[in-house]
Amino acid sequence: MNTIIDRGEGIWQVKVPLPFPLLWVNAYVVVGSNGDVDVIDPGLRTEAAEARWAEALDAVGFRWERVRAIVLTHHHPDHYGLAGWMQARSGGAPVFMSDVARASAERLWGAAERERTGEATLALFARHGYPEAARPAMREHLDGFVPMVSPQPDRIETIRYGDRVRLGDAEYEAIHTPGHAGGHLSFWNEAEGRLFCGDHVLPGITPNVSLLPFGDEDPLAIYLASLEEVERLPVAAAFPGHREPFAHYGDRVRAIRTHHDERLRKMEALLIEPMTGYELCRAMFGDKLSVHQLRFALSETIAHLVYLENQGRVSRAEERGVASFVARRR
Ligand SMILES: [Zn+2]
Repeated sequence: MNTIIDRGEGIWQVKVPLPFPLLWVNAYVVVGSNGDVDVIDPGLRTEAAEARWAEALDAVGFRWERVRAIVLTHHHPDHYGLAGWMQARSGGAPVFMSDVARASAERLWGAAERERTGEATLALFARHGYPEAARPAMREHLDGFVPMVSPQPDRIETIRYGDRVRLGDAEYEAIHTPGHAGGHLSFWNEAEGRLFCGDHVLPGITPNVSLLPFGDEDPLAIYLASLEEVERLPVAAAFPGHREPFAHYGDRVRAIRTHHDERLRKMEALLIEPMTGYELCRAMFGDKLSVHQLRFALSETIAHLVYLENQGRVSRAEERGVASFVARRR
């Protein structure tokens, strides 16, 4: 597999390996005419990822000192993890991210808040029927990310929604595209019809939409609304966080919206009997998931349940601190 690809106009796609079924995250190196380099979403910190960056220096032909900015679409570990590592190598290039992304990274991995966030996640899962006996494995899984996002960047600059951001020689508008992650940004260059869309819109796979503590209260509603907002952008080339760059952006946005409509209907149909989020998750996604997959599947199921509840399509009952949901008769 070709892992470092020249996409033209000074843009290089670097496939940074991931130890998950997703296989890789796309970092983009954008080289300006003066030789300065901007990096979007450097990846998750592993030995294999560091080795990939050593190859990228050779293939693209730049030195760490030429990195001018490290720009993040969102705070998820597979995008943010190497930001501090790369910052140190570059001699202190600033890391740019949204305010919400910065606060989220702090809550997930900052020494002060990490413990509390982990506990809140487990408490949320327990409220949705996640079994007590499975909690230690989930806790261990969550803690396992810390070395893969360390060191944390120490010089962070905030991007506000609508800001102009320079990548290589071109200017981009930072568009707020929340739902997959709070404070998610996409970078849009209208003149070229070019969009760095992070994980907001992906080809071939549906971006995960999760309800998590301290995040958006109805992330799926926010996600569907933000899809609607970008659907009409005249995108010629979309550069996503996973898989390959693609062209038919509007079609892909519509397909993802349809996917969620279908999933919501399927859940509603399953909920003729009351179920907890965990039971519904297993009914939807099976019982063979790894802890990693289960975390995504369960928080995704909860996001859909909350959406259905807010739409008046299911109702919630609580017993001994555990919520169950049943479809409303219509
Ligand atoms: Zn993500």
